[in-house]
Amino acid sequence: MKKHIKPLPDPELRAILRAADDIVAEGGRTLLSKILKGSKERKLLELGLDRNPSYGYYKDLTLEQIMDKVDHTIRTGFLEREVNGKYPTIIFTSRGWAIEKERRAEEFVQEWDCWLENNVIPLNMEYLKGRNQGLIFLFLYKILYSRNKKFIPFLTLWERIDYKKVQVEIRNVIQALKKCDNMNDAEWKQLLSERAQSLIIRSINPIFLECQSCGRNFIFDEENPEYYGNEGLSFPNECPSCLEEHLLHR
Ligand SMILES: [Zn+2]
Repeated sequence: MKKHIKPLPDPELRAILRAADDIVAEGGRTLLSKILKGSKERKLLELGLDRNPSYGYYKDLTLEQIMDKVDHTIRTGFLEREVNGKYPTIIFTSRGWAIEKERRAEEFVQEWDCWLENNVIPLNMEYLKGRNQGLIFLFLYKILYSRNKKFIPFLTLWERIDYKKVQVEIRNVIQALKKCDNMNDAEWKQLLSERAQSLIIRSINPIFLECQSCGRNFIFDEENPEYYGNEGLSFPNECPSCLEEHLLHR
């Protein structure tokens, strides 16, 4: 990340990343901007991009203004351009993917919530199979974190159809949810952090953040479950040593 450029406000950043998710390594910044504009171009509709949750997010801006926002997202290190064949396409940086992955995992949780509320029984769980493992495991972690047994029937359905490595993790989550009522808070916390170690996967390239107190770069600890529990992924503003110092002087 380059210094002293502020990222876009959170809701805008998340909207752009969500739009990018459907065209990663396939489309470029123009196509991305058109999704955000809500373009009715044939190509876009044929690809079903009008179903993207960020479709039309910037409908009141010009394509040029939207392109500026996209470029800003690239400059601040959440997306990057990669030449794929002839044309440059958009891909996530580790940092951008960390945010988008969290959002998609949360969407999966909300979908299950919605199905359960409306007594919808999904025909099958194939839609979860073969997806990005970081995403799927984070979804499982969120299900576990909910400490809610209502998800067990869905987990059981899913466990039947997925690959071995995922099955093992699903089974662990089912077991944990089954026994969570008999655990005290300390035991539960312990179990959560144990499961986090296999369910929260570090990206290949470390995520560097700039400390807002001392200005030094530090590596974001992706495996720290505290950043995933609440709404959205939140990056810490300060490096661990500044944080520690502030805690001491509080
Ligand atoms: Zn610092």
